[in-house]
Amino acid sequence: MAAEESEIPHNMPPRSAAGNVDDRAHLPADDPIPGMDAAVFEAFAGEVAQFRDTAVAPNVARWESEKRMAPEALREASQIGLLAMEVPASLGGLGMSFAQKCHIVEVLSAVSMPFAFSLVNTGNVAARVANLGSDAHRERYLADLMAGRRFGSTALTEPGAGSDFANIATTATPVEGGWRLDGAKAWITNAAHSDVIFCYAQTEPGSRGRGIASFLIDGTRPGFERLPPYELAGGHLIGTGGFRLDGYIAPAEDLIGPPTQAFGAAMSSVNGARTYVAAMCCAMVEATLAGAVRYGTQREAFGKPVIGHQGLAWKLAGVQNRLEAAQLLTERAVAAVTESLHTGDASAAILPAAHAKKFTTETAEADIAACIQAMGAEGLRSSHPWGHHLVGARIANYVDGSTEIQTDRIARSLAATYATS
Ligand SMILES: Cc1cc2nc3c(=O)[nH]c(=O)nc-3n(C[C@H](O)[C@H](O)[C@H](O)COP(=O)(O)OP(=O)(O)OC[C@H]3O[C@@H](n4cnc5c(N)ncnc54)[C@H](O)[C@@H]3O)c2cc1C
Repeated sequence: MAAEESEIPHNMPPRSAAGNVDDRAHLPADDPIPGMDAAVFEAFAGEVAQFRDTAVAPNVARWESEKRMAPEALREASQIGLLAMEVPASLGGLGMSFAQKCHIVEVLSAVSMPFAFSLVNTGNVAARVANLGSDAHRERYLADLMAGRRFGSTALTEPGAGSDFANIATTATPVEGGWRLDGAKAWITNAAHSDVIFCYAQTEPGSRGRGIASFLIDGTRPGFERLPPYELAGGHLIGTGGFRLDGYIAPAEDLIGPPTQAFGAAMSSVNGARTYVAAMCCAMVEATLAGAVRYGTQREAFGKPVIGHQGLAWKLAGVQNRLEAAQLLTERAVAAVTESLHTGDASAAILPAAHAKKFTTETAEADIAACIQAMGAEGLRSSHPWGHHLVGARIANYVDGSTEIQTDRIARSLAATYATS
């Protein structure tokens, strides 16, 4: 998802690299969207950690070497409800709060942020079908999405427009009974397999955000052509790719976000995405730091554990120091997004989400590299998840608005914050 102009989502118990959830509470005490009962949720988080350690962690390096998404593991995840986290319980989902969802993506990201990102993207589509779709949409797609029989994507980015989302060129032209969509989407999470897609298109070329509308499109219909998934430096578990729309006919009821509303809604929901990406970064740094500390206490050089050398220990202390700051910024963003979901006003979540994403993504990349350096050459082995985390941190710097877009968002707030009197 991109971000622009009027653009407008940790606070989880941290865990060790092995992923054991500890009991430090980070969730906001007064979460206005209650979500799952706290005791039930705690037991569920333990179940997720077990799923991660048995079904995901042992396979990440193999999936990555095969350069592919892991639909079979997503289907297994669906069996404990992981593709339906925010779907209301009345519709068969887990009915989680946003904060609880952030906690779960953090649990998964301790071993694979790309896997967690793919999973959460289908989950987001399921929640939107549940909350914004018609009865017919729910009937057609919801059970399949929640069970991992179909996968979901949210498609803003195009070959010619990423950060500048308002400049998309895919057109939506009114036709009898609906809309005709023509254009191409690029860099779309899950596009390797997804066919239930929230897709943004321009209804009034030249009007930028005002004319943008969103549609629920079905990749099994004529006019949809899936393009080959991308080969990347890493992160194939995200299933990134693109598709073309050539005379795709969206029936009128598949218009989800009408012009003048869809752009703003996309920019509002991106605060949540930025916040869970920040939570993912905290998890990757914490896991890698724990790995570096374990290694440093066991590996000896010059007659003592390498962590006994002050030059190395101080570097890791710096990583922990920035991790603490990252976690606090993320907690603040979770609280702000939670509040915005409660009030319906996303504006107060913009800056907390931008600060959290900018700080966590920038520090994650540098600090995961520092932890790998502290593990010597051993840190590079693909049998460890550290290199995968480094790629995950790199990816986090692009998705849901690049680091520069977060910086720009903060920069544009400076005058209002400091130069008003
Ligand atoms: C693994 C992965 C998964 C993704 N999943 C999705 C998805 O599911 N759905 C989707 O719609 N998109 C997705 N994206 C696309 C992502 O949102 C874009 O990569 C991002 O918005 C940046 O767009 P761009 O790559 O086209 O870079 P560009 O917009 O072309 O920017 C190029 C560079 O210029 C910088 N830049 C741009 N504007 C400014 C400015 N005003 N000031 C300063 N610097 C600027 C950018 O930060 C970047 O460094 C994904 C990307 C990746 C890598």
